[in-house]
Amino acid sequence: MSDFQRSVDLDFDREHIWHPYSSMTTPGNIWPVKSASGVRLTLEDGRELIDGMSSWWCVVHGYNHPRLNAAAAEQLQHMSHVMFGGLTHAPAVELAKRLVSITPDGLDKVFIADSGSVSVEVSIKMAIQYQHARGKPNKNRLLALEHGYHGDTLGAMSVCDPQRGMHHLFSGILPQQFFVPAPQTPFDGDWNPDDILPLRHKLEQHHNDIAALILEPIVQGAGGMRFYHPEYLRQARALCNEFDVLLIADEIATGFGRSGKLFACEHGDITPDILCVGKAITGGYMSLAATLATTHVAETISNGEAGCFMHGPTFMGNPLACRVACENIDLLIENDWQAQVSRIEKGLEKGLAPARELTSVADVRVLGAIGVIEMKQPVDMATLQPACVERGIWIRPFGKLVYVMPQFVMSDEDLAQLTAGMVGALSDSMS
Ligand SMILES: *Cc1c(COP(=O)(O)O)cnc(C)c1O
Repeated sequence: MSDFQRSVDLDFDREHIWHPYSSMTTPGNIWPVKSASGVRLTLEDGRELIDGMSSWWCVVHGYNHPRLNAAAAEQLQHMSHVMFGGLTHAPAVELAKRLVSITPDGLDKVFIADSGSVSVEVSIKMAIQYQHARGKPNKNRLLALEHGYHGDTLGAMSVCDPQRGMHHLFSGILPQQFFVPAPQTPFDGDWNPDDILPLRHKLEQHHNDIAALILEPIVQGAGGMRFYHPEYLRQARALCNEFDVLLIADEIATGFGRSGKLFACEHGDITPDILCVGKAITGGYMSLAATLATTHVAETISNGEAGCFMHGPTFMGNPLACRVACENIDLLIENDWQAQVSRIEKGLEKGLAPARELTSVADVRVLGAIGVIEMKQPVDMATLQPACVERGIWIRPFGKLVYVMPQFVMSDEDLAQLTAGMVGALSDSMS
């Protein structure tokens, strides 16, 4: 038997391996996975779980998808990787063509990055180089929204919600950025014109110091799973123009159909100056992301003092990842993602509605293929997650938020089982 056929060495895992946001002294529960196919994870003991997390927004067409497998296998016959400095290849060019064609009009220059956080770092550096090239070197700070999440590297962290991101722990080294309260008007609420005032006031005071506003359009993900009104996005775009500040849209979570539009910027009918995409770009196969910019931003940077854009990761434009990303995007279009997502949206609304009856629940909300149950108190992960596994579903709540973003291919039956399992586990855990 090879090392990979034996059961997972959980003792070694516990002793030696960090997991996301984990402790080396009091590790949480961990389940060994043997394989995954379609919308199901198969645990080592043979149990099958319906996956509600899509491996953190990434998987849309199913695990172990024949077309994505074939694309990867075919690319392996040619090359897994070559450096991108001075070389190019069809997978990168074809991916960039697709990204330019499906993202909002005007985003024509593509930087292919290796993860979401890196694409955010790239967007921040683009904004700063842009302002520098225009002779405005003092416009070198970022403006961000409370409840925002943009990644875990230092630059990305500096624009995450200061409380949740624990900025005080890193206060000596994190760049000091500006923040405004998150929009309050819900996605489908009546727009309150006062909602935009904190942003206007902050820009009035500090626009001379600000390179760009960075936000997650419409859906604030890991910072609270909040869905806000499209009018906020429209007015934020207008304010950025008025105050000569770039707009960076972080669509790493929302991109590729998740919110009911191919990109969430479309809810407000806006084009940002810079756009970050990642997560679902390879359908959950491997790490890849991209930062797109307008021609104006890209040419201004290129004509600046440095004469180039100052970034170039080792695995930039990785052919294997780009090839799978192309196939993933083609599948999205062929599969009529819009019909898939609106079917999931209806199933989530129906399946999560009974949670509204639970006294422990503060709010239930659904947008596109995202469903959220917000509790009044933080949930106890140590009991809730095993209870969900017992019910044959995989979710990973945080704080007060119990949420799912199912794959677009999930059947109505599986979706009903997933939502019933969530509501059932929650109502058991409260009784
Ligand atoms: C996940 C996420 C990131 C970070 O992406 P990684 O690939 O984890 O580095 C950045 N922004 C948003 C909105 C995200 O959801």
